[in-house]
Amino acid sequence: MAKISSIEWTNATWNPWHGCIKVSPGCKHCYMFRDKRRYGQEPARIVRSKTTFHEPISWHSPMLIFACSWSDWFIEAADDWRDEAWDVIRNTPYHTYQILTKRPERILDHLPVDWNSGWNNVWMGVSIENQDYVYRKELLDGVPAKVRFISAEPLIGPIKFGSLDKIDWVITGGESGPRARPMNPEWATSIKDQCLEASVPFFHKQNGGTTREDGAWGGRLLDERTWDAMPVSGIVPLN
Ligand code: SF4
Repeated sequence: MAKISSIEWTNATWNPWHGCIKVSPGCKHCYMFRDKRRYGQEPARIVRSKTTFHEPISWHSPMLIFACSWSDWFIEAADDWRDEAWDVIRNTPYHTYQILTKRPERILDHLPVDWNSGWNNVWMGVSIENQDYVYRKELLDGVPAKVRFISAEPLIGPIKFGSLDKIDWVITGGESGPRARPMNPEWATSIKDQCLEASVPFFHKQNGGTTREDGAWGGRLLDERTWDAMPVSGIVPLN
């Protein structure tokens, strides 16, 4: 397995399409918008990749893969391409795919026909940035999946999830980048405590901000230690 992404909770990113439309405050400083503009590209134009659509097929050792780091797997503009992307996942069962969306209301209508109770190699997640978007967890609760997860990044307000009975993994992280909104560590600590109480694996990615400490934006320590729990034993991101 090789590590080809700097994101702490995965090994690689895969973008069968790129470009996106902002949907909520967590998108405000989306790094994809910043990076695409730097390359002279229009970030709100969603395009099918000419070079990376089938990329995981060329990775022969098992990888933990974050799908659509530069878009959203369930975005409307990709409806005509998604079946072919599901085929890539279906044909590479040795990889594990992390699908993270801010459009959970679209999941149930856009799963593959043989999804049944979820494919073994797909983890399905939602992004939740503050209390206003906890409804995304409630929608995810109703999606059959082998692993359901929440990414609370950028964490821009306190969150009380309510029940975590259907959730297998929670990630927190503060915003990074030039205009990063500060994360109050108490918000991340509260989420960590909710996870410990519910026996849900908890992963703290970064504190956020504009400087790196030990390789992570704002450092990774929360309550004086790192939190690196994963939902499935034996599948871990590399350092
Ligand atoms: S959904 Fe994700 S990729 Fe799309 S604009 Fe928001 S943060 Fe960026």
